[in-house]
Amino acid sequence: MTRAASDRPLAPRRIGVFGGAFDPPHRAHRALAEAALRQLALDTLLILPTGQAWHKARPLTDAQHRLAMCRLAFADLPGAVVDGRETVRDGPTYTVDTLAELRAEHPGAALFVIMGADQWLAFRTWRRWKDILRWATVAVANRPQTADGAPLPDLAQVGLPFVELELSPIDVSATVVRDQWHQAYRTTSSSAATPAPDVAALVPPAVARYISDQRLYATHGPTA
Ligand code: ATP
Repeated sequence: MTRAASDRPLAPRRIGVFGGAFDPPHRAHRALAEAALRQLALDTLLILPTGQAWHKARPLTDAQHRLAMCRLAFADLPGAVVDGRETVRDGPTYTVDTLAELRAEHPGAALFVIMGADQWLAFRTWRRWKDILRWATVAVANRPQTADGAPLPDLAQVGLPFVELELSPIDVSATVVRDQWHQAYRTTSSSAATPAPDVAALVPPAVARYISDQRLYATHGPTA
């Protein structure tokens, strides 16, 4: 007698957690999300714009804008879900709190925390990092530290277990995107910035349109 499909034990769900300021989401974020979904065989990748980032000194762009840009950036990526929970949480955002919630919401699920090398190298400063390692697998994509071709960091120096995501190094950061957009406002007379095509291409096209339409980053100085 064959068992009904509903009697079969379901494989545990595989849920990725990709947090960040996403101010704005750029093409490395997008590539990293695609790599994580594919290489970790995730059922769902939660994209979690941070509320008050404990490790970033500068004030972030309003969460509503960062959420809207994430929805645009990841809309056509199957399995990616933008989750705004961290933007409405009181106080600083900590990944361990999000993991605790997800463990309660999805008992038995396999959780993966996705990050770039800069975050991994600072991982021992994360709140309750031991609990994070107990509850989830950390997956790290390497990232160039500087634009001048310096060697990629040695991820093993952290001395903690992780899995490495294969990703060709992409030398883009949100800081560079904000700075370049800021320059575009200074060199255009129209109210919406029209950056050079190579600057616009640092972010997904819909995000570029959103930044221009909303005049985001117009008031940031070059080092903001
Ligand atoms: P900022 O320049 O404002 O500090 P950022 O470009 O680092 O921003 P975040 O939103 O802080 O972007 O990053 C979210 C996550 O994406 C982090 O884990 C970060 O390490 C990772 N990430 C960002 N850019 C890259 C990149 N070029 N390659 C690999 N990972 C990246």
